[in-house]
Amino acid sequence: MVISYIGLGSNIARASSSPKEQLEIAVDAISVHPKISLEKISSFYQSSPIGPKDQPDYINAVVKIKTDLDAITLLRYLQEIENNNGRERKYRWGPRTLDLDILTFGDQTIRTEYLTVPHLEMENRAFVLRPLLEIDPNFQPLSGQSSAALLEKCTDQGIVKRLRGPIV
Ligand code: ATP
Ligand code: CA
Ligand code: CA
Repeated sequence: MVISYIGLGSNIARASSSPKEQLEIAVDAISVHPKISLEKISSFYQSSPIGPKDQPDYINAVVKIKTDLDAITLLRYLQEIENNNGRERKYRWGPRTLDLDILTFGDQTIRTEYLTVPHLEMENRAFVLRPLLEIDPNFQPLSGQSSAALLEKCTDQGIVKRLRGPIV
């Protein structure tokens, strides 16, 4: 069993599902996999887009799972969930109905064409750090910097609201 953190994001609705509902659908889809056990879910956060600014704010969350899958199989499963929820890949960091990123996978370092773990940007992004530290306050940043110092560096990233997650 490996512990893995997954980052979730959405900033456009699909059919009648709002970004918040898209995240709830994704959490459900992650949790029903027979080889995944869902351990924790963060609150939902609202954040300004990175990259192109002419798109709606994002809703973000982080979940902690335990899994018997290998990292590539987990990535494929997450991409299947994205695709089932209308994910289209138009341009980098453009608006999307659902984005699921593997943040960490046990203590593994993976550098392949399709998968980079730990996620290279995770320690620079408030919308990853805030929910991750909410569910695991003792998380040790891999860069060796303190989590407080990292959060301080990204205070200007426009995390504007905290919404209730799917499980109270
Ligand atoms: P960012 O990586 O900056 O968050 P993004 O999430 O918008 O950008 P995507 O278009 O969703 O990027 O993904 C592009 C590719 O990144 C995917 O097809 C996948 O193969 C690859 N990838 C590499 N590492 C990871 C990871 N840790 N989690 C998810 N996808 C990854
Ligand atoms: Ca991403
Ligand atoms: Ca992604």
